[in-house]
Amino acid sequence: MTKKVKNKCAIIGDGIAANILCFYLKKICPELTLSQFFEDSFYPNSSIRSTAIVASRNAQAMSTLGDYLVRSFEEVKNFLIFNESLFRDSIEWVLHREIGNGDNFFKRFPETKESKLGFEYQEQAIMFYPERFLESLQTSHQATRVVKLIKSYDDLSEFDYIFDCTSHYKKFLNKEETYKTVSGSYFLSEADFDKSFSISYFHNNIIYRKKTKELIIGSTSGESEFYVDDFISLKKIYNRCKEVLELPRMESFRLISAKRQKYSKRLPHWGRVSDGLFTNGGYYKNGYQFAFLAAKELSDELRLILDKDRIES
Ligand SMILES: Cc1cc2nc3c(=O)[nH]c(=O)nc-3n(C[C@H](O)[C@H](O)[C@H](O)COP(=O)(O)OP(=O)(O)OC[C@H]3O[C@@H](n4cnc5c(N)ncnc54)[C@H](O)[C@@H]3O)c2cc1C
Repeated sequence: MTKKVKNKCAIIGDGIAANILCFYLKKICPELTLSQFFEDSFYPNSSIRSTAIVASRNAQAMSTLGDYLVRSFEEVKNFLIFNESLFRDSIEWVLHREIGNGDNFFKRFPETKESKLGFEYQEQAIMFYPERFLESLQTSHQATRVVKLIKSYDDLSEFDYIFDCTSHYKKFLNKEETYKTVSGSYFLSEADFDKSFSISYFHNNIIYRKKTKELIIGSTSGESEFYVDDFISLKKIYNRCKEVLELPRMESFRLISAKRQKYSKRLPHWGRVSDGLFTNGGYYKNGYQFAFLAAKELSDELRLILDKDRIES
């Protein structure tokens, strides 16, 4: 008897995890029909509120997290080289300057130069324009987009494969989850500088996106709720960043805040959970870095399953 062809695939989410995954699935498993489910008016995504800078920052494969970061950085670079023409308006290579001092700094960045502001390490980094990048992905992968709040995986029982890319909302679908929800916040203002840049000044970040004239000062990490402490910290960051460059008035900035999913040791979690269910998340502070490698590995895994099914049918 011939086996039923399994090619219906549901992806839950509309952030970087889900959209990059749709892009890779379409390339690696072209026989699939992709349907993407999300409900951003109720469960807002973090991906468009992200500072979205990806740099190697001298990550070394000396720990599991370091290994993920190094391999992920390679995958992002490969992706952008192969797909350069599609994302010209939504990414930019910029000079990232890491300025600091102290033992930990020198351990992490052995090759620094002394500058007026402290010791400095420089490298090329990738700046994503989050909204534009996600839009470009959606245009390319062409998954059927469905605005719908998924209450249980059973809502998607007609699909052969489900990919959960729901980030910190995952506990509403799976009550046994053990991650923490951690907020992240920064100040955003319009500004006019010559070119884009990214500076980390004693852990305070200053990012300028020339194409959209957005200046970002931040960022803070807090509990799942947003506290007045975060606001006080951001004001301190603002004052500290004034040592590096002239900033617009404090009143011109508005606060941007979003939530992230954090597992133990900041490790991402992706892979097959059960027969047709896959998970993809736990990106915490590195969503734009991890999402590409996750999408590649998940798509390769599904490719093997589809090939095995085809041989057996
Ligand atoms: C302030 C800040 C700064 C950051 N800076 C960086 C950085 O510089 N570099 C970097 O790499 N990363 C950075 N990150 C981290 C990165 O932005 C996140 O890790 C990433 O955006 C998470 O992507 P995601 O797709 O997993 O989740 P999200 O973008 O949060 O998307 C989750 C999606 O799931 C949908 N959803 C959830 N549950 C359901 C349901 N039941 N039914 C239907 N839809 C559902 C939501 O509607 C949403 O679309 C930053 C994050 C923040 C907050």
